Amino acid sequence: MNIPDTARAQAQDLLDFIDASPSPWHAVATCEARLQAAGFSRLEEVDRWSLQPGGRHYVVRGGSAIVAFTVGRAPLAERGLVIVGAHTDSPGLRIKPKPADEASGLVRLGVEVYGGPILATFADRDLGLAGRVAVRSGNGVELRLVHLDEPLLRLPNLAIHMNREVNENGLKFNKQTELPLLLGIADGEPADRRFRTPLAERLGVDADALLTWELAACDTQKGSFWGVDREFIANGQLDNLASCHAALGALLATPEPEATCVVALFDHEEVGSESAVGAGGSLVGDLLARLAASQHLDAEDQKRMLARSFFVSADMAHAWHPNFPAAYEPCHRVLVNAGPVIKSNANQRYCTDAASAARFIGFCERAGVPCQQYAHRTDLGCGSTIGPIVAARLGIPAVDVGSPMWAMHSVRESAGVLDHAYMTAALGAAFHG
Ligand SMILES: [Zn+2]
Repeated sequence: MNIPDTARAQAQDLLDFIDASPSPWHAVATCEARLQAAGFSRLEEVDRWSLQPGGRHYVVRGGSAIVAFTVGRAPLAERGLVIVGAHTDSPGLRIKPKPADEASGLVRLGVEVYGGPILATFADRDLGLAGRVAVRSGNGVELRLVHLDEPLLRLPNLAIHMNREVNENGLKFNKQTELPLLLGIADGEPADRRFRTPLAERLGVDADALLTWELAACDTQKGSFWGVDREFIANGQLDNLASCHAALGALLATPEPEATCVVALFDHEEVGSESAVGAGGSLVGDLLARLAASQHLDAEDQKRMLARSFFVSADMAHAWHPNFPAAYEPCHRVLVNAGPVIKSNANQRYCTDAASAARFIGFCERAGVPCQQYAHRTDLGCGSTIGPIVAARLGIPAVDVGSPMWAMHSVRESAGVLDHAYMTAALGAAFHG
């Protein structure tokens, strides 16, 4: 299979983006660095804003959600907005507030299961730690990102001699008793101190200065290309950092749009989106209100603005797996490296309708990329996305799309090199209207 150099480079950039983003807080910081390098300026929610056509800005909420936008040349009430949404969070294991305990001289860290990971994939991996820590500094508190990017933690399997049925019954863990991660030998120290020491050393502070944290166990293996022509990629968090990266890339490649273009990257999609930083919160609505105020739109013009807007919910799609043909709807097999996928569900687990799907097909045609359509098996429960949530809150037409991938919610997922370039191009066409 021929992979153009440009597609290879985009996929490599995606792998680097993910390697630098082991937690939602890191993902936002990685986006912020790229936006700043492209000349976007940071706005604070506590300030008054001055927004002009051509202005390129971003807002961060809660450290784990970010909205970036370019104010279009056309008035909002006449042209509306094009919004692409995705999510910064991924399912996995999160460290508890008081995680450390000792069992027969071994220190373990208690974890909560965040969202719906494939737990078995976390066994026998070289796990690090990533997230943010509240550190006492002077009279105040500072939130610091931390990434322990070396094998620190492990969930060793039970030997097959003690789990004889594992290949017949699958690898199962009791979430409370069998998921704590091994950290080390207690060595005569309190378990809590053993946990704090590597964090404090990395942050260059005293162990007692660590007040609270939000930390995820993260895989330390870097992203890779695989396949006979290296036509596939593997990494953690392709769901949904691949969509974040494609959306951001499309926005950066659209410097002077006619319509106002927005990329909204939310946290908490994997746990239902109902939070201040989730798609169920006010983040995008608040941005739209401030944009409308900047152009002095009255109530009626605000509704006209919304009625002319379009929302693209970008989240990954389930690629056909040849070993498990029975898991798929036979007429809706979507293939890796065969283009963006439009996802439809009559029960509105996805927000796509005929009009929005047709519009997205048009974006793909203009971008010169292929396009596929997906529906879940009727006898299987269908997952959902931020699409229906944002569409319902804003009342605007919307479509659910995504790049095909394998092993969604595994600690190591895989996808196609070409698909990432295709999706970035299709989203770019959406921003061009
Ligand atoms: Zn997702």
